[in-house]
Amino acid sequence: MPECAVSELGKIDSATRIRDVIRSVGFDLVFQPKVAFSHGKLGGIEVLVRWPEVVSGRQAPDQFVPLAEQHGLAPMLDLHVLERTLRTWRSWSALTRLCWSPFPISVNVSAMSVQDEDFLRSVTWLLAESPRPKLMFELTETAPFHNPLAAAQTLEALSGRGVQVSLDDFCTGFNNHERLDTLPVAELKIDREDTAKLDTVAGIRHVGQMIEQAKAAGLTVTAEGIESRDQWKTLRTLGCDYGQGYWLCPPLSASDAAEVVQGY
Ligand code: C2E
Ligand code: MG
Ligand code: MG
Repeated sequence: MPECAVSELGKIDSATRIRDVIRSVGFDLVFQPKVAFSHGKLGGIEVLVRWPEVVSGRQAPDQFVPLAEQHGLAPMLDLHVLERTLRTWRSWSALTRLCWSPFPISVNVSAMSVQDEDFLRSVTWLLAESPRPKLMFELTETAPFHNPLAAAQTLEALSGRGVQVSLDDFCTGFNNHERLDTLPVAELKIDREDTAKLDTVAGIRHVGQMIEQAKAAGLTVTAEGIESRDQWKTLRTLGCDYGQGYWLCPPLSASDAAEVVQGY
């Protein structure tokens, strides 16, 4: 068998494994706090998917999420993560949920999902049960729009149901100015690779321009991948609203995230 056919078979096998994980043990979730520059306290939290500990052949999200997109499994994965997020939130005590109530929980969502005709119906169904947290959907940058109108309509409908939209990793991949101009966006996210370049003049100028543009459009800005006090200070000077990164807090288990939120 030619080598490329072998690697295609490997990918199909991995896609089957993603589906099997969703239908069996489910993916693990971790939660990374967002911190407000204005007061240095909690401002939100992002849910990140993880290959389950109990399943062999561990892969990073950067590997299996694009694979899910290539094989049409993105809506299934994103709905699974949303459902698990809501289930985790509902499992917390009333006090934890009360502490949590001012902050949005951000869930990553693929461009493939928001173009899927059943996605909106499934999300609406998941959100019908109460109580539910404030939600923000981070539109990821890895997939194109084949049907931009459907994507815009889905995101408009979600905004109407109180789900805010964030453009993840702005100015990378497919998350460009066109998406900013045509979608009901409430937040821009600065990618960790741009945060890493804040030690150069060009890097500061680039991030500064993105923040200025966001402010001009009335959006909030979150910078991810903050690994040092210097990056934090530079971003604060540039007018960034929220920060995320290992220097502030790594991604946490659900129980640790509940403790952190109660601490605030
Ligand atoms: P993202 O949404 O831009 O997530 C930020 C990534 O940066 C996460 O990687 C996070 O663990 C990592 N990170 C956090 N703080 C730091 C830091 O200080 N330094 C560095 N170098 N990295 C930091 P992760 O969890 O591996 O996720 C990678 C990407 O996978 C995400 O990028 C997102 O695009 C995608 N993803 C993750 N979870 C989901 C999901 O549930 N659904 C979808 N569709 N995509 C997801
Ligand atoms: Mg994200
Ligand atoms: Mg990123």
